[in-house]
Amino acid sequence: MQTPLNINDSPESPLVDFESIVLDFPEHDTVVDLSSIELADNKKRPGFNLHLIRVNAPDLQLIARLSLPLMSILYFTTSDSPPLMVPLSIVILSCLLFLFYHLYLYRMANRFGFLKKIMISANQLDITTAHLAWLLDPAAPAPMMLLIIVAAIGNGIQHGFTTFRSLLQSTVLMAPLVFIIRVRLLGFDSLSLIFLLLCAFLLIYAYFLIHRIDTIQSETENRSTHLELNNYKLKQLGMALQKSEVRYRNIFDNSSVAMVLIEDNMLISLVNSKFLDLTKYLKSELYNKKRLSDLIYKDDLKRIRRFHAKRRKMGGTTPTEYECKLVDKSNNIKHVIIRFNTTHWHERIMATIEDITSRKQAKSALMRSIKKLRQTASLLTQSQKQYRSLFENTGTATILVEKNLRISMVNSKFCELTGFSKNKITGIKRLSEFIERKNLYRIRRFHAKQKERSLPLPTEYECLLVDKDRNLKHVVMKIYTPQGQKSSIVSFFDITKRKQAEAALQEAHERLRLLAVIDELTQVANRRQFNEKLNNEWNRLKREGLPLSLIMCDVDCFKSYNDTYGHQNGDRCLRSIADAITKTVKRSVDVVARYGGEEFAIIMPNTDLHGALKIAESARKAIEQLKIPNKASSVASAPFITLSLGVSTMVPSQSLSPEVLIKDADNALYAAKNSGRNKVLSGNQFMKN
Ligand code: GH3
Ligand code: MG
Ligand code: MG
Repeated sequence: MQTPLNINDSPESPLVDFESIVLDFPEHDTVVDLSSIELADNKKRPGFNLHLIRVNAPDLQLIARLSLPLMSILYFTTSDSPPLMVPLSIVILSCLLFLFYHLYLYRMANRFGFLKKIMISANQLDITTAHLAWLLDPAAPAPMMLLIIVAAIGNGIQHGFTTFRSLLQSTVLMAPLVFIIRVRLLGFDSLSLIFLLLCAFLLIYAYFLIHRIDTIQSETENRSTHLELNNYKLKQLGMALQKSEVRYRNIFDNSSVAMVLIEDNMLISLVNSKFLDLTKYLKSELYNKKRLSDLIYKDDLKRIRRFHAKRRKMGGTTPTEYECKLVDKSNNIKHVIIRFNTTHWHERIMATIEDITSRKQAKSALMRSIKKLRQTASLLTQSQKQYRSLFENTGTATILVEKNLRISMVNSKFCELTGFSKNKITGIKRLSEFIERKNLYRIRRFHAKQKERSLPLPTEYECLLVDKDRNLKHVVMKIYTPQGQKSSIVSFFDITKRKQAEAALQEAHERLRLLAVIDELTQVANRRQFNEKLNNEWNRLKREGLPLSLIMCDVDCFKSYNDTYGHQNGDRCLRSIADAITKTVKRSVDVVARYGGEEFAIIMPNTDLHGALKIAESARKAIEQLKIPNKASSVASAPFITLSLGVSTMVPSQSLSPEVLIKDADNALYAAKNSGRNKVLSGNQFMKN
């Protein structure tokens, strides 16, 4: 499937050549079952199988022991004097038989490596035979005597004296007995002396040998105890090892990380269940069939190899961790991190494989979202820049106000308007600090009222703005709060100039209006105003049924005044007369008007004739008291400017008209002139006459 990974060609690297050696590996996991191992039990003695007859060492001992007393009995009962040839021949025969058996045993021992015990038993046979020979012919000790010594020494230096001990003891005890019998039968001779010496030697030898046997026996016992102890310890160790193996196997099997054991031939020999989950393979498909490199994605394998080649060139160490893609049985690709771990005492490689697919996916999703966020952020920055520049270059003084009226943003136009710098306003000042106190209270009251009536708040206010130098500026304040926002955009339109222009216009209008209704010379109402006022009051009082009085005044002999003092003085005189008449009139509803040239009229609504006459008289007196000299006056009483007045009072009705009222007052005035001037006469009076 994949090109094998050959990432480790360098001799120092443990991962060299994944596919160099091919060995047979079992289908299943190879685990040592310690319980199956039986430790050697030294109490068990293997039997010796001589085809049909089974003879073991104790049997041989028994035969040897039985033969001794039997032969002795036979010797003393069947003959008077030694040697007895018949038993001797039996002894010689049995000696030959044992000799052959002895040779057979040696042959077997050499071929199959018999245990020493059997060899010891064979030696015992030799000694027994020698005993028999010596006892049966004590007169002429057989050459077997030599064999006794040799065999005894040979056995003595070997292990396994336990069975030999009793035999030796009996031989030693028998020796003096045999010596006595011999002396009795044959008398003491030189051979007897040798025999005696031999007996002595045997006794001493036996003594040391038995002592030695005892020592060796106790040593053997100690050793066997020690061995048993060791054996027990080994068993305990074995059990502990087994337990630990089970534990490690559990860890291996139940690890959350996929694990794989790779043999020195790079083939997989052991995997855990996580690895099977990851790769979807069966154990039988992997063990001894697949290499880990077979599962690595082709391109990644190439990349790792290239990387290795580079590393080698540079003389660096081989990494033990690789991030790559893994192809499972169903050809699905998974992102993994492979970590290699080599045991130094063993050529096996343990690799752990961490599945980072989900992590990778999450990472790439995160990267995508980060990218998107960045794009959004850059768009936002751009748009924020645009808005900022818009805010700055709006041409209108604009600020951003938080809910607590704190100003969080301000443009240069606003700074221009207020005279403060941006950093003296932003985050420091509140909107309320810029609004004139009375205006602020007015707005607050209005707000409270609107809220009380649950009516919407206006978005536009005309108010006075206080600048840095406490100057007041007329502004229109527009408030805009975008939906869902906590801050509001507040714009100010400076309308001071407009307000000034408005005021100027108003003044001009007023002037014009006054020009239209006021007499320019005397500053009292002109004829047009007189007509209008008279008609209005006429109609109103007609509805109300109340009286309307009219006083007509004419300066006496004014032509001659002009002639005497000039027109300019005449004008001045007219102004003084108008002022004096105006001062005489008390009520605000009364209207003083210049009716023409040197004639004045007083409209007095809701005033009866009596009241009107009183006012007329007051006016006459006031003019008289001005004492404006008029030398040429024809008025007899005083050489001053005087006034003649005609008064008329009517309750307006359908049958009458303002013209009638004027006419009546005019007639009264005419009558006053005719009756000497500087007089007040009433129309009604005149009409009565
Ligand atoms: P009488 O006592 O009969 O009223 O005599 P009179 O001279 O006042 O009457 P007349 O009607 O003959 O003269 C009115 C004069 O008033 C004519 C004019 O010279 C003068 N006059 C009218 N209007 C003005 C004005 O606006 N300024 C000045 N200086 N004189 C005016
Ligand atoms: Mg006149
Ligand atoms: Mg006149």
